Amino acid sequence: MTLLPTSPERVPTSAAQHRQPVLLGLHLRAGAGLSTVVGRAEAAGARCLQVFTQSPRSWGRAPQPPERLLELRGRVEASPTVSVLLCHATYLINLAAPDHAVRTNSRRCLVANLAGATAVGAAGLVLHPGSHRGAGWETGGHRIVDGLRWSLDAPRGSCDILLENTAGGGDTMGRSFSELARLIEWAGFDERLGVCLDSQHLFAAGADFASAAAMDAVIAEFDATVGLRRLRAIHFNDSHVPFGSQRDRHASLGLGMIGAEALRCFVGHPRLQGLPVVIETPGRQGGDPGRADVDYARSLRGAGRRRYAA
Ligand SMILES: [Zn+2]
Ligand SMILES: [Zn+2]
Repeated sequence: MTLLPTSPERVPTSAAQHRQPVLLGLHLRAGAGLSTVVGRAEAAGARCLQVFTQSPRSWGRAPQPPERLLELRGRVEASPTVSVLLCHATYLINLAAPDHAVRTNSRRCLVANLAGATAVGAAGLVLHPGSHRGAGWETGGHRIVDGLRWSLDAPRGSCDILLENTAGGGDTMGRSFSELARLIEWAGFDERLGVCLDSQHLFAAGADFASAAAMDAVIAEFDATVGLRRLRAIHFNDSHVPFGSQRDRHASLGLGMIGAEALRCFVGHPRLQGLPVVIETPGRQGGDPGRADVDYARSLRGAGRRRYAA
């Protein structure tokens, strides 16, 4: 692992950032209809919302029709509470795939996802960077960068892509901040690339944030590699699997293996304040996450902020 802290010092924080809390929210499945998610997010007290604009696990299914996407955009713009919308890209996309047909499908699917995210006015499209599947990191990295450039330059979208850190299983790429930084560097530091940081993936990849000092070190390493200005969204999930297990398995907050204190130190960190924070877990009361999950996350955040108050 290359997630070793590079510096134990505190990252300096602006006063303005200290004052603004994180925008807690949810990932919701469209279910009965894409536009219903805003009402459900509002009922849960969410300030941000993440959705798929097309099926997460299939290439073939048609994306949501344009009128639905526009309706969702209108609902978010009119919402008194939800102020940030994010989209998550289809899971099947693998820009690094050795198989040419899979790579081509992935690029096309990413462009369709970008078009959907653009249509709903999303602040970013969260994407798992990919898996080189034995081809080696360098080869996979160049494939990802080519795919990102091709997709971002395609005429149908203008939404930014947020590369998500991964749990690190198999040949997945983006398991450390230095890997994410290298992809962004190879893409010429394209301004349309940001990063989404997932707490479960971080834990599973073996990065310790169990205390304020440890989380400070994680944030300092992020700043020294990727740069904090690229951090645009947070996924706030507990883990079904142990520390360092490299598996991507989300648990409801407080019901997994990360531990309440680490969750507090994570979400309470001063440098995360002001960012959209999406809960992508099963709900504490079953189904999608809801008010109980947002309320619990808010209590973690409140206690977490006090860890850094001194
Ligand atoms: Zn995530
Ligand atoms: Zn995940």
